Formats: sequence, C-alpha cells, structure tokens
Amino acid sequence: MRIIEKVSEMQQQADAWRREGKRIALVPTMGYLHRGHLTLMQKVRNHADIAVMSVFVNPIQFGPGEDFERYPRDMERDVRLAKEVGVDVAFSPSATDMYPEGYQTHIEVTEVTRPLCGKSRPGHFQGVTTVVGKLFHIVKPHTAIFGEKDFQQLVAIRRMVRDLNMDIEILGHPIVREEDGLAMSSRNVYLNSEQRNNALRLSQSLREAQTLVRQGERNSAAILAQVRNILEAGKDMRIDYAEMRHPETLQEAQQIEGPTLLALAVFVGATRLIDNCILNASA
Ligand code: AMP
Repeated sequence: MRIIEKVSEMQQQADAWRREGKRIALVPTMGYLHRGHLTLMQKVRNHADIAVMSVFVNPIQFGPGEDFERYPRDMERDVRLAKEVGVDVAFSPSATDMYPEGYQTHIEVTEVTRPLCGKSRPGHFQGVTTVVGKLFHIVKPHTAIFGEKDFQQLVAIRRMVRDLNMDIEILGHPIVREEDGLAMSSRNVYLNSEQRNNALRLSQSLREAQTLVRQGERNSAAILAQVRNILEAGKDMRIDYAEMRHPETLQEAQQIEGPTLLALAVFVGATRLIDNCILNASA
C-alpha cells in the first residue's frame, strides 16, 4: 500500500488513474481505525478499482476546548489495518498543505446542519463539508462512503453533493457496534471501564425506543421521556440532545409516522458520544 502525503502528488495520481479509466473510491477518516472504518473500506472495495482512505484529523471541524490535540493518532497501525482490507493508498496530508497561510474559503450547508450536533458544535459542519469538498477535489473519487454513525454528517454531505453538482456517488453504511451494543468510535478509548459500562445506555435506550414503537407508541415526547430516563440513570452522564427528526430534512418529528431518526449525543464524563437509529412505524 502506498502512502501519499502531498496534495499535489495525490492529485497527479488521481488524474493518472482517471486517464486509465479506473474507478476511484474514497473513505475519509480521522484515523485511529476500528472495525467500523474497516467495514466501510471493505464495502467500498466492491465499488471501485482503487480504494483510497484519507487520514486527516481536520483542525477546522474542532471547536475551542474540544479534543483536537488529544484525538488519538496511530498512523503505523492504521496503515497496517487498511492494507489488510485491501486499501491501495493512504492519503495523509499535513494541516499546512490542506490549509496554507491565508486560507479563507469554506463550504457551508445551511438548514440540515443547524440542529443536533450543529447546535452544540458551532462551525463543526462547516469544517466537515469544507474538508470533504477539498478531499473530493484532491482524490477525485467516483464514489465515497460515510457511516450512519455520523448521521447528520451523511445528510449534510449528500446535500452538498446534490447542491454543488458534485459528480460523486455517496454511499452510507449502517453503524458498526461492539458485541455489547456500543457504537464503535475512535473516542471510545477515552472511556475508563465504568464509563464504558455507562456508555452502553446509549444503545440500550435506542433499543428501548424501538420496543416502544413496536408496541404501538407513536408519540415522540413519550418515547424520548423513556430514552432520557435510561440515559440519566447512568452515573456522570449528561444528555447533550435526544431528539426525533425526519431522516432527510432533519426537521423535528412530533410523531413516528414514517422512518424517523432518533439521534443522541451524551457526555459520559468528559467524553461526548453520539449514537442513533431509525425508528420505523411499520416495523
Ligand atoms: P471518523 O474517523 O470518526 O471521522 O470516521 C470516519 C468515517 O467512518 C465516517 O464516515 C464515520 O461515520 C464512519 N464511522 C465511524 N464509526 C463508525 C461506526 N461505528 N460504524 C459505521 N461507520 C462509522
């Protein structure tokens, strides 16, 4: 597997592949890979001749006081794991190559980035769509894949691709979980064993919501009250949000009528975890 660090080299290589008629797939990541990332890479292998993963901890999507500096990094391990699942190139640019002095251009998707994580992390999604837009121009993929773990991010990227006529197929992939239900995340390494145990309340509360819907409950407030009960019973846990939203527009859903996104962001100690599921009235 080849490692490319320079933006210009990546662009030249992408041009060469395109001239040869090769299909390029991109998996954008911030590294510190887990089975969730690797599953995305395996899936994308079937959609392209060349699989590229980017590893870039994007400074502009972190707010002041967030974990940019301490975000876990281990490039050697990432390269080894990605190679095992057939990734051809790891693109890992420096922050100065991506954002040279005087940088002042951003991509902003408006409405769908306002609620949920957009509300608690101002500027986050502008950072995400900007870096993903840049990666698209650098790696020139035909296909790119994103996890539903970051559901709002996937919605924003689909919106950006549509609105800006980017000729790229966007694939989503369901949340990959640990055996006990915890959604895989690079940030799970921040949790001590007690916190990790409490963190299971996120997936437990989603399962409880699914059970309530199966039993006929359709009122969002009633379901969210149960979800909150489960989350708040955990020691040292603080709900950032627990909301029902339409899965495409992300507008608030008072009732479960069609497929409805139940999205959570919860602090377990100082670690902010997100999780979600789609509730389906017909299920
Ligand atoms: P990150 O490195 O956290 O920015 O994630 C890179 C990509 O992997 C994003 O598209 C995430 O949504 C996706 N991803 C992260 N964790 C999971 C997971 N547990 N299941 C599915 N996709 C995931």
